[in-house]
Amino acid sequence: MRTELDWSEYQDRGMGDAYADIPKQGGDFAKAVAVCIRSGVCEQHGRGVMCPSYRITGKPLLSPGGRVQLLKRALNSDAKAITYDRELAEAMDLCVACKGCKRECENNVDMAQIKIEYLAQQLKTQPLLWRSRLFAYSPLWINRFPWLGRLIRLRNRSALLAHWGDKWLGIAKQVALPEVAVTPFAPLDRSFPPLSAHPSGEIREVVLWLDSFSTLFAPQQAEDALYLLRLAGFTVHVVHPRSVDGAILDSGRSLLTFGLVEETRKLSRQLLKVLSPYVEQGLAIVGLEPSSLLMLRDEYKTLGLGQPALALAKQAMLFEEFIAAELTRGGFQLPFQAGKITQPVLIHGHCHQKAIGAMKSVRRVLKAIPELEFSFIESSCCGMAGTFGLESEHVDYSHQMAQQSLVPSLQAAPEALVVCNGFGCAHQIKVTAHRPTSHLASLLRHALAEQ
Ligand code: SF4
Ligand code: SF4
Repeated sequence: MRTELDWSEYQDRGMGDAYADIPKQGGDFAKAVAVCIRSGVCEQHGRGVMCPSYRITGKPLLSPGGRVQLLKRALNSDAKAITYDRELAEAMDLCVACKGCKRECENNVDMAQIKIEYLAQQLKTQPLLWRSRLFAYSPLWINRFPWLGRLIRLRNRSALLAHWGDKWLGIAKQVALPEVAVTPFAPLDRSFPPLSAHPSGEIREVVLWLDSFSTLFAPQQAEDALYLLRLAGFTVHVVHPRSVDGAILDSGRSLLTFGLVEETRKLSRQLLKVLSPYVEQGLAIVGLEPSSLLMLRDEYKTLGLGQPALALAKQAMLFEEFIAAELTRGGFQLPFQAGKITQPVLIHGHCHQKAIGAMKSVRRVLKAIPELEFSFIESSCCGMAGTFGLESEHVDYSHQMAQQSLVPSLQAAPEALVVCNGFGCAHQIKVTAHRPTSHLASLLRHALAEQ
């Protein structure tokens, strides 16, 4: 089996351990699978169950450990490809790549990454579904052909189009698609001067890397983040999907979700070329959407992109991580006004934010707003998980995941303002709980004293 991702990080795992039970094919990928020690922790019941597919079904084979068992069986078999195993295919299909296992399993089984490799292997024996192609390339296509946004709006308002989309493509007719903003965010300049002096008295610079989800679907959050960073005294260099003529600068998250490794690699090289000069200057690369930004920090390292990707990974930060770090060192001061936000704030964390422990940074940032009343929703994956919640055969599972704790928590606090930085989570909250959400950047801007 020739793997598509770089699994060399696991090359020494389990070596010399008679009990590691490393499968006979798959090389370092097999070692990544074999880090599971069959402790059964991921098959426990009650609160805090890590895997959303196990939570809603209670089936052991739909837990991380269950998937490992099936993968090992396939990697030990003589079948031509691991993707011929039907039971494994079903189990991998319901993994929503939330990284819950990477965070909570005692051996950090990274099923989300294993799934990417699995899908890449699947593409060697099966063509990509039309629906997957559509979803995988949508950020690129919408950036190139903005009129596609009108088509999405039309589909959302036409029961007939929704019905055809369901019948011919497998896009769930009962769920609205995320709508492209009428005016996406398109900054006129590449660099923006600070709006006030930095507390250190020095000239400070930062890169605001804007992902396609923020610019196309939620332009207000891009605008608010830019404003806040400038107001806090930073010169902000904006890298936008259309910053380079003839290219689309996108993380490639949507492509990689469907196992399109080579296409992602091409895209990531373009983005690296633009970001690397800033990285070499030692600037932080700040992003707004968790799954997009964390791709630069996590998945890029598995694409074999060399030293520039490793350097970028060290400087790529979520908006909340950057501000929390600056607050700690006294480099971020804004005139927040006590009582400006009168409602309690309820925060839903994106799975990838939670997987790297970024909710601590969110808490640190929210504490900077005097007298703000806030709490966090205790939930696992919201169920949208990329486009999982938009897919006909998955929509019921997706709603069950949302109903586990996210929707009940929102219903229990009807007056709360909901903060959520994940693009997919925000959409899931909109379609399942009918509640608007704000990005943390927008909440912070809202909390400023009138200028
Ligand atoms: S995946 Fe992790 S938690 Fe689950 S059985 Fe394996 S080692 Fe234990
Ligand atoms: S990535 Fe999430 S859905 Fe997939 S096995 Fe791990 S916990 Fe379960």
